[in-house]
Amino acid sequence: MHNVLLALALTLLLPLTASAAGYRPEVAAHRGASGYLPEHTLPAKAMAYAMGVDYVEQDVVMTKDSRLVVMHDILVDTTTDVAQKFPGRQRTDGRFYASDFTFDELRSLRVTERFDPKTGKAVFAGRFPDVPIAYQIPSLEEELYQVQGLNRSTGGNVGVYVEVKEPDFFMAQGLDILKTTIDTLTKFGCNSPDSKAILQIFDYEAIIRARELGWKGQLCMLVTAGGQGAKDDKARHRWLTTPEGVKEVAKYATIYAPNFNLLAVPTADGKGYTLSELCELVRRNGMKLHSWTLRRDALPKGFKDFDEVLDVSFKQLKVDGMFSDFPDLLVEYLKANHLR
Ligand code: CA
Repeated sequence: MHNVLLALALTLLLPLTASAAGYRPEVAAHRGASGYLPEHTLPAKAMAYAMGVDYVEQDVVMTKDSRLVVMHDILVDTTTDVAQKFPGRQRTDGRFYASDFTFDELRSLRVTERFDPKTGKAVFAGRFPDVPIAYQIPSLEEELYQVQGLNRSTGGNVGVYVEVKEPDFFMAQGLDILKTTIDTLTKFGCNSPDSKAILQIFDYEAIIRARELGWKGQLCMLVTAGGQGAKDDKARHRWLTTPEGVKEVAKYATIYAPNFNLLAVPTADGKGYTLSELCELVRRNGMKLHSWTLRRDALPKGFKDFDEVLDVSFKQLKVDGMFSDFPDLLVEYLKANHLR
């Protein structure tokens, strides 16, 4: 009898202790519910919204006629039929760039699951098939209208998590993507510290400039182990993980978001991982720790299954936020573990 009462008391208390401890990690839908529908389409965003996420992510690139559109790459040929619709419009490297096309031209493209432009093969074999549906590239404004519209119609409070892609690349063509993005978010009422809008960038100089341009909201420094776009990226990003680098970032950013394998570092034999001190370093400097990107169909190195990835993220590292292509699995896990 005593044991039964104890078990009952524990069952009742556990959710309370979890919330009393104040740990409520946030879930960001990476490119929408991109594990289920083609990434960065409005349906994938609406699906993510309905999954109970905290944030829906937008990657932003700029068109030739200075419009902001939502797609992951400065290249258009990995998720659209641009090579068929606009033959001859590639650069000498054979690739098609968003900034070489007008908004109307990009809008005429059909968006599909991500594929290898050389082979045409899908990057994630088991995901949404290539069927004749005319999914389109959305503008940043449409995405903001959709999230804010859903917040109004459902009474929800889902945020936007906007990544400015390669500001230097666009600036070299006279396109100030960072300023235009900040102006757009400001117009939508997102430019304040308590607004549920986060600006994220891989480029440290752009993080500093965002503040100079008057961005008052949450600001996320994205950090990766290897090059991803920004200038002298490898050296810069290694520095960003040092005690000095993290301290500098904390002067501007409120969130620090390293690639997951910088937190759970794979061992040399690839069979396991060790947890790095980066987590502690970020917290000591007063920033929130977010990380990316959890995929059920592409596990981080050294992990056996997706549950192990979730346990390490939320029970050991206790990240404040996590990006996933499968945000519903994170929401379910957090509910089952009384973390939301
Ligand atoms: Ca992104």
